[in-house]
Amino acid sequence: MKYKGRYGNYGGFYVPEVLIPALEELENAFYKFYEDPQFTKELDELFKYYAGRPSPLYFAKRFSEIVGFKVYLKREDLLHGGAHKVNNALGQGLLAKYMGKTKLIAETGAGQHGLATAMIGALFGMETKIFMGVTDIERQSVNVHKMKLCGAQVIGVEGGTGTLKDAINDALRYWTAHVSDTFYLFGTAAGPHPYPAIVKHFQSCIGIEARQQCLDQIGRLPDMVVACVGGGSNAIGIFSGFYDDKEVRLIGVEAGGRSLAEGKNAATLTEGKIGVLHGAKAYLLQDKEGQVFDTESVSAGLDYASVGPEHCYLKDTKRAEYFAAQDEDVLNAFEALTKREGIIPALESSHALAFLMTHKNEISPDTIVVANLSGRGDKDVSIVEKYRPLK
Ligand SMILES: *Cc1c(COP(=O)(O)O)cnc(C)c1O
Repeated sequence: MKYKGRYGNYGGFYVPEVLIPALEELENAFYKFYEDPQFTKELDELFKYYAGRPSPLYFAKRFSEIVGFKVYLKREDLLHGGAHKVNNALGQGLLAKYMGKTKLIAETGAGQHGLATAMIGALFGMETKIFMGVTDIERQSVNVHKMKLCGAQVIGVEGGTGTLKDAINDALRYWTAHVSDTFYLFGTAAGPHPYPAIVKHFQSCIGIEARQQCLDQIGRLPDMVVACVGGGSNAIGIFSGFYDDKEVRLIGVEAGGRSLAEGKNAATLTEGKIGVLHGAKAYLLQDKEGQVFDTESVSAGLDYASVGPEHCYLKDTKRAEYFAAQDEDVLNAFEALTKREGIIPALESSHALAFLMTHKNEISPDTIVVANLSGRGDKDVSIVEKYRPLK
């Protein structure tokens, strides 16, 4: 069983026996419905009328001027909920409905995936429970409030450090006891099979649209596609549209945090070693004894000690390249896009822009880049204010 859902040496199905029937039921349902005409029609309509797809591809002229090459932004920040997370939440929520499940559960760290799930729970009239570490609940009170407004119950997780890793453990534990009526709506392209495949499928709309928009608007493919990487869902979504275009460089940017050397980061692919967490084998931030690190960065949405298995495979096979952006450079990128374009990017998405700014001297002026603007930064203004008080 653990050999299912492999990406080279990575991925798999490392879960307790009791969870295997639930994951198999999910796998069967996904492969039954994901190309079903009725399912795809319903999902396409939700994407269009509820979420606001297709999201525009926007030429950021004044941002391009400061880096010295052409940067187009894939505007996932304009979707309902303010980020790409709605794509996956709609897809899995609809799958839950087709499976006859009446309840949703989800984990959340920064609260963005919890909020996306709470929105979809309200939309489909499903009872929704969000597992969230107590430390995160304190740090992300606005999102907690919004989830409750949507009618979701937020369950505080006390164990461990009271953060995302602990919330996932508790959500999995709860699921084992409630599989008959409950769907676990997982938030990123990681975790046990079949989640990496499911999340990639529902996020692949980003890459499919972006590729076609490049052909329509620019008349050619980009030279480079860049996206931030937490668990890896927005990046895998946009990368997947360009896999077969070997001339397009795919670049993932992780949270380098305050310091790579002191381990104060969330740079899993850049700094991690292979291990197993949350049901999958992947690069993992851990010490010599295999103890998982607490991640640290300016953007809570990238703070995950592991990463999706397909990214590990893309790194090893060199189809994609991965870099880490430091907090200071991320804040510079946040300010630059806001000042030059009037677009406030999420701190997560600012990592992709930070890569472009810090590597601009190595990128030739005739280069065309598509950067995935995974979300808007309204949620981050008070964090930025702490680091960069306004005069
Ligand atoms: C959650 C989030 C991310 C990180 O998640 P991935 O699964 O790596 O995409 C990135 N950007 C935004 C705006 C987010 O909310």
